[in-house]
Amino acid sequence: MSMINGFSDADAQRLGEQERQLIERRERLLGPAYRLFYERPLHTVRGEGVWLYDETGRRYLDAYNNVASVGHCHPQVVEAICAQAGRLNTHTRYLQEGILDYAEQLLATFPAELDRVMFTCTGSEANDLALRIARHYTGGEGVIITRFAYHGVTGDISELSPSLGAGITLPAHARTVRAPDAYRLGADNVAAILAEDVRAAIADLRANGIKPAALLLDGIFASDGVLPDPAGFLAEAVAVARAEGLLYIADEVQSGFARCGERMWGFERHGVQPDIVTLGKPMGNGQPIAGVVARAEVIEQFGRSVRYFNTFGGNPVSCAAGKAVLDIIQQERLQQRSEQLGSYLRDGFRRLAERHELIGDVRGAGMFLGVELVTDRQSKSPAASQTRRVVNGMRERGVLISAAGPLENILKIRPLLVFEQEHADLLLESLDSALADAQV
Ligand code: PMP
Repeated sequence: MSMINGFSDADAQRLGEQERQLIERRERLLGPAYRLFYERPLHTVRGEGVWLYDETGRRYLDAYNNVASVGHCHPQVVEAICAQAGRLNTHTRYLQEGILDYAEQLLATFPAELDRVMFTCTGSEANDLALRIARHYTGGEGVIITRFAYHGVTGDISELSPSLGAGITLPAHARTVRAPDAYRLGADNVAAILAEDVRAAIADLRANGIKPAALLLDGIFASDGVLPDPAGFLAEAVAVARAEGLLYIADEVQSGFARCGERMWGFERHGVQPDIVTLGKPMGNGQPIAGVVARAEVIEQFGRSVRYFNTFGGNPVSCAAGKAVLDIIQQERLQQRSEQLGSYLRDGFRRLAERHELIGDVRGAGMFLGVELVTDRQSKSPAASQTRRVVNGMRERGVLISAAGPLENILKIRPLLVFEQEHADLLLESLDSALADAQV
């Protein structure tokens, strides 16, 4: 009797039928815009710590999800949500300490000048609000983003997210700059190239009668292919933008909350100070909470003339979850763990590169890791189909990762921050074997 994935043919057939029915039902109910991960989509029913479980009880090591960052169903977050939901859940139009306690705790993780926070439910809303604030403050309209940026799904922000697909048309007020890709542009060149591109974009906007408002950049350039190095490369471009009167909006939806290592925020690696920071994803470990942090002067201009109310944004339950996440990051020393285990994994990937020709580049900051696969190290020709095989091969081996970049040839690996070394080792072993299979 042959076994697939630890199950008999009959099991696999039964499961296959169940999955087919679910896929069909999804398409019928949700339409075609939703995408599923993996050639054999995963039917998840439960999460605990670093593991997700499917309907058969098989467990999968979560090295992908940047939401349940402190661990799936972390008891302290669950407890905080339940306790607050059982006591009070209203909104921001009543006096309530929870939102203020959380705001204080959150703002304490930022440089002192960034001293105001506004709450939203999603990262998209946070970027949308940040853009409105920046436009109000500068009186400008133009926005500069990277070529394969992703910033979210609202009307304004989806137009600034070219990675969403061919259906996105860049608006007249947007300009793109080359992604700061050290592997392809050269580590010594990225800072100057980015600064030069920003300068040119500003000039082009002005030449077309559009006043620039903001430079909007993802703290780790995730959709552009996970581009963290060399730390500091942002400084020159940000200086150019600010000298020209633009605000720098740091999109920390992916790169925040210790994801990039010892420092809480991705922008800190670059030694720059944003005017506005947007937050989301792991902020509530799954409870919808996101936000905008900015200098008082920037936010107050906007707030004085535009009333803001977001029904669910910053509600007591979401703030309780957010507070629990910050507590856990501190109590479990997740910043240090992100730094140390991230570096351990990068070393491990580099050892794999000695045996697997497919690996062209290993990069990352903390626990946000990228492994670029190429068919030829000389020409750096992207190995897109092999990347797909590795991602699916990992899923079959019980480890969840994905791919990033315009050509989807970069393994995007974001282990939950509560990984232990044994989980990192399991990830490395599985990758070794999946790479061997993908090479042939
Ligand atoms: N910015 C970045 C960099 C993101 O990766 C995402 C989500 N993937 C968003 C913004 C949007 O966040 P949300 O999905 O919560 O709207």
